[in-house]
Amino acid sequence: MTKKVSIPIRAKSAPKAPKKSYDCAKCPGYCCSYQLIEINKRDIARLARHFELEYSVAEERFTKYDASQKARVLRHRKDTVFKTICMFFDQKERRCTVYESRPGVCRDYPLAKRCGYYDFLEFERDQQDDPDYIALT
Ligand code: SF4
Ligand code: SF4
Repeated sequence: MTKKVSIPIRAKSAPKAPKKSYDCAKCPGYCCSYQLIEINKRDIARLARHFELEYSVAEERFTKYDASQKARVLRHRKDTVFKTICMFFDQKERRCTVYESRPGVCRDYPLAKRCGYYDFLEFERDQQDDPDYIALT
C-alpha cells in the first residue's frame, strides 16, 4: 500500500535571526568614536579597492600604528559630538561613508542582539524625555 502524503510538503523554515534591539540610524555613532578601531590587511585591501588606491597609499592615508596596542588602527578626526571619531564617519548624517567596505571589526560589532551604547542612549533619552538627546559617556 502506498503511503499517503499530504501536498504540499513545506520545507522547515530557517530559524529567524535574533531581532536587533538597537537602531544605528538613531545613534550618534558611539562605536565609531572608539579610539582604537583595529584594522587588518584584508580590511586595508578592501578600503584600497573601494577608493581605487594602492594598498600602501590606503594604509598610510586611513590607518596609523598604535604602539601601545601594537596594532594598526583607523585614523580619527575631530568630531562635533565626541572628541574624535573615525575619519570615515559622516558627521552631519552620523553614519559610515564606507559601509559596504567597512572593516571586519565594524561588521561584527556589537556581537550581540543588544548594543550597550544604545541601551545607555535609550535610558538617557527616557530620563530626559527627549528622543534626540545625545548622552555622552
Ligand atoms: S554604538 Fe551601537 S547603536 Fe550606535 S552605531 Fe554603534 S552599533 Fe549602532
Ligand atoms: S569604518 Fe565606518 S563603521 Fe567603521 S568605525 Fe569608521 S565610520 Fe564606523
